[in-house]
Amino acid sequence: MSATSRVQDTEPVEPTGSTEPTERPAPRESPGLSTAPATDLLPTATGRRTRAAALELLRPDRSLAVRSGLVLVAATAVGLLTQPLLGRIVDLVTDAAKGTGTVSPSVLTLPVVLLAVVALVQGAATSLGMSMVAKLGESVLARVRERFVERALNLPADRIERAGAGDLTARVTDDVARMSEAVRSALPELARSSLTIVLTLVALAVLDWRFLLAALLAVPVQAWTAQWYVRRAVPLYSRQRVATGAQQQQLLETIGGADTVRAHLLEDEHTERVADRSREAVGLRLRGVRLVLGFYGRLHIGEYIGLVGVLFAGLVLVREDAVSVGTATAAALYFHNLFGPINAALVLLDDAQSATAGLARLVGVTDLPVERETERKAVRGTAEAPDDAFVSVHAVSHSYTTGTPVLHDVDLALREGEHVALVGTSGAGKSTLARILAGVQPPTHGRVRAADRADGRPAAVLVSQELHVFAGTLADDLRLAKPGATDEELRAALATVDALAWAEALPDGLETVVGEGARSLDAAKAQQLALARLVLADPLVAVLDEATAEAGSAGARLLERSARAALDGRTALIVAHRLTQAATADRVVVLEHGRVVESGPHERLKDAGGAYATLWAAWSGERDAAPAHDGG
Ligand code: ADP
Repeated sequence: MSATSRVQDTEPVEPTGSTEPTERPAPRESPGLSTAPATDLLPTATGRRTRAAALELLRPDRSLAVRSGLVLVAATAVGLLTQPLLGRIVDLVTDAAKGTGTVSPSVLTLPVVLLAVVALVQGAATSLGMSMVAKLGESVLARVRERFVERALNLPADRIERAGAGDLTARVTDDVARMSEAVRSALPELARSSLTIVLTLVALAVLDWRFLLAALLAVPVQAWTAQWYVRRAVPLYSRQRVATGAQQQQLLETIGGADTVRAHLLEDEHTERVADRSREAVGLRLRGVRLVLGFYGRLHIGEYIGLVGVLFAGLVLVREDAVSVGTATAAALYFHNLFGPINAALVLLDDAQSATAGLARLVGVTDLPVERETERKAVRGTAEAPDDAFVSVHAVSHSYTTGTPVLHDVDLALREGEHVALVGTSGAGKSTLARILAGVQPPTHGRVRAADRADGRPAAVLVSQELHVFAGTLADDLRLAKPGATDEELRAALATVDALAWAEALPDGLETVVGEGARSLDAAKAQQLALARLVLADPLVAVLDEATAEAGSAGARLLERSARAALDGRTALIVAHRLTQAATADRVVVLEHGRVVESGPHERLKDAGGAYATLWAAWSGERDAAPAHDGG
């Protein structure tokens, strides 16, 4: 839609049409306009997608997952030898008692030693398995965080705006925390409990299938109990949250507005209100406690029904001589051994569900389509990537807040070695375009392309008005741009920007601690450091948006020299805060209200009588520079 950008000059704004990606995503709305509703929460993944994502996250650690699963199965299986060994002791004792009437302790030596071995092996295998599971969990968590944070950072600002920043924040904090919590404690415990339950049932069946049947008598009661609990707990807990919120709100209102409350003699009324809210919250909490007690009571009924069934089955089977007393004992012990894991599983199911919900919300964000955002394509000397198109923006529009676009359909491409100055009145959108071109800010519409070379040089580096001198030594500050740079390289970079003399004059030279709380550098020196970092980073494209004007005119001239030296031989976009910066550039691009209105060399635009001529006249006071516009 270049009809919206009136480019007066014939100079092509987009000299290399072949760098244009073959398909450009069709904007869903006209650039800069948004018809989206006020809040439009970020999406949540479906259950199926969440499961698929969980598997994807596990895939890189597949072998660790399989190994830790096997170790835990082995640990649980070994542990299940305990009950038959105890049963064996019972049999030995009863047999001995039947025969001689006395029991020689030596008979029991073997099973007791075996019991000890089983306990040791089980303990060792369990702790090994759990530590493997913990490692697995941490690795998955790190992957979730990485993906989520990367995606969240690249979300178009208007998307976050529509969803409300709170939605994203809640996902970054609450959901990630709930997942971490679950992955660290609930999920491993749940896996272990489930494993114990399944293997114990198998072991019961191995003793005698009728034991399993008797044990399963407990299942209907447990299933009904779980349903009974969930039906009551979900609405009760949500009422509890509402009531607690209302109570806190009332407290805030009453305490926060204490003076007003007193002034209007409303103390009694407010005290009453606080008491009402508190009574309600306390009442609901007590109902919660009763509910949990009812839950466990019912669960125990189920357990005892099952235990009675197993003991009864044992009695019948022993009478029929189908099993020994020891085997019946082992069956009863097995069943008793199920209580703990079943209770744990039922409780942990809750945590697992909330973790799944959290994951679904995170996957919803990571799955957002990547269209309409900065796309950095690696162009490594292929045919359609001419060497002179280092960085370009196509049909870029940008809004910080929905409905107020600050850039409209801007096209701009920089050729190798070209210095382009961006000019325009304050608020025209220069800094925004600079940040977008540097890849620091993703545009709400359109594409940004930056050539990416195999030699590892960064595509673009932005030197902005926000100056940072990081606390640390001067050398550390510089090495942020190039870790591992030698002292010689640091000195050379400082020399390039005329900063070596003052840097070496510092008490400890390059090892002087600078930055906040230490020796603070003035704005001009901080600016020179930023330029030296640019030299060290050696990007293909430098984007300069610096307020050198603030440094005073003598300082400004000095800084301009530093900047020129830093940019020498480099492709650069310079936000020209002073038009002398424009006069020395190869090309000037004029922005007005977020649109490119002129583009061409300084001399030509100065004489063209357009927007630039007006700006130039106003800035330099050269009336004759803008004959068509007599003002200035
Ligand atoms: P310039 O560099 O030409 O002065 P900017 O790109 O800084 O222009 O700003 C263009 C418009 O965008 C201005 O109206 C400004 O208020 C607005 N703007 C800039 N940065 C932000 C931001 N972070 N959030 C919201 N609005 C912004």
